[in-house]
Amino acid sequence: PKFPPTVVVSNRLPFVLKRGPNGNWQRHSSAGGLVTAVAPVVADSGGLWVGWSGLFGKEAEEPIPEADPEDNTPTAGITSAQIFPVSLERDEFEYYYNGCCNGTFWPLFHSMPDRAAFKHEHYDAYVEVNNKFAEKVMSAVRLLKQRSDEDEEILVWIHDYHLMLAPSMIRELAEAEDIHIKLGFFLHIPFPPWDIFRIFPRSADILLGLLGCGMLGFHVEDYCKNFVDCCRRLLGCRVDSTHLLVEHGFRTVRVRPLPIGIPFKRFEQLALEAPRVMGGTQKVVLGVDRLDYTKGIVERVKAFELLFEKYPKYIGQVSLLQVAVPSRTDVKEYQDLKNELDQLIGRINGKFSSPSWSPIRYIFGSISQSQLAAFYRDSAVALVTPLRDGMNLVAKEYVACQVHDPGVLILSPFAGAGETMHEALTCNPYEKEDVCDALDRALSMSEDERVMRMMHLRRREEVNNVDFWLYSFLRGMELHNLEPTDDDGS
Ligand code: UDP
Repeated sequence: PKFPPTVVVSNRLPFVLKRGPNGNWQRHSSAGGLVTAVAPVVADSGGLWVGWSGLFGKEAEEPIPEADPEDNTPTAGITSAQIFPVSLERDEFEYYYNGCCNGTFWPLFHSMPDRAAFKHEHYDAYVEVNNKFAEKVMSAVRLLKQRSDEDEEILVWIHDYHLMLAPSMIRELAEAEDIHIKLGFFLHIPFPPWDIFRIFPRSADILLGLLGCGMLGFHVEDYCKNFVDCCRRLLGCRVDSTHLLVEHGFRTVRVRPLPIGIPFKRFEQLALEAPRVMGGTQKVVLGVDRLDYTKGIVERVKAFELLFEKYPKYIGQVSLLQVAVPSRTDVKEYQDLKNELDQLIGRINGKFSSPSWSPIRYIFGSISQSQLAAFYRDSAVALVTPLRDGMNLVAKEYVACQVHDPGVLILSPFAGAGETMHEALTCNPYEKEDVCDALDRALSMSEDERVMRMMHLRRREEVNNVDFWLYSFLRGMELHNLEPTDDDGS
């Protein structure tokens, strides 16, 4: 389709900058599904991307390089003139990002208030950084306005919990200049229930920030309902809980469940092509997560230990392959989690290993997409047991990679993915015994049942892929200048 001129706004730009051999900056594009889906909207609409480059001080002021000529990801289609970097100071970033975003909003929105810290200086930095983003978005909007026709609509699409105040700031600035824009926001993490959300001391300000938008997208209906409920109870807004509408000022804000998908075909193709990396006849149970306390990795490993105690027939026959991608490694809570996991895995391996087999293989690091696809394809079970997760893409990627002899997906009901992936086995990650019994059921499931369940799971993810999510969001924005084509995933 022809996209309207769009400003995409996210905490990070869609690439990281690294010094090349000659000391110049080089772009390393993100290969993530979201960036890959959204990049063409910016590239093809002559749009702009506002975000932080990852650099501080003087380095942040150096010009953004063009993409590497070898780079064939969609992000390479975005020229340096289409990038509007927001520059942040190191201290400011520390308070805004590690402090407010990851120390407060991340645990609170995942319904873990005991882990959340509330410091007013962190929130002050959050307000300040959101202001900086809003100002930068306005310069982007002005540029697009100059270039476009009088009646052409401009879309501003803001992403995630780092920027929840920016919408109303942008709306105010645009109204002051009499510039008409369409403002949309998508939250990539859960939105918590009212009695959790109100723990945040400035919760009403967050709602007012978000209500600057015309439309707000969340992964699943529960998060939408939580948001609408918070608007009613904390702000006294008139709401329509059935149609998910919130009245604010003289406007009606639309709230929509828009579950994100994956680039299904890309994962399927990787799985068809990737070489075998795991030999032998023993069955593999796979876990793939960022090393984060919301993912329930410690709880999962303990449940796996119980499997050998309750069902000794699996000793020597089944092992857990856990990939833990390093995350927020400069934060103490995450360092403590790593130590706990290292010790736990060491203890279990010490207890059950034999010369030819060990119960847990543990990779602390990132792996390539091709290797990941091979792990997904060759594992008998994917054990996806977060304590709370906005969506969980690993569950969807596993399904896309089941190209031969399908395995079984075990999925926590506390992941957004649990709302739609009905044919997965579910278990409560807080109850070891339940996880252990789900594992036994998965490992002993008949081929007919595995094939049937996986066929339905795959069909759904193939249709509701990341492009489908993108067009659903754009359609929800009610843009009159979005021209659909026959192959737009609708
Ligand atoms: N992933 C990765 N490197 C790895 C292993 C996994 O980039 O070594 C990717 C994986 O393919 C998935 C993402 O990390 O797309 C994790 O997304 P998910 O929604 O499951 O969790 P999040 O990390 O966003 O909380």
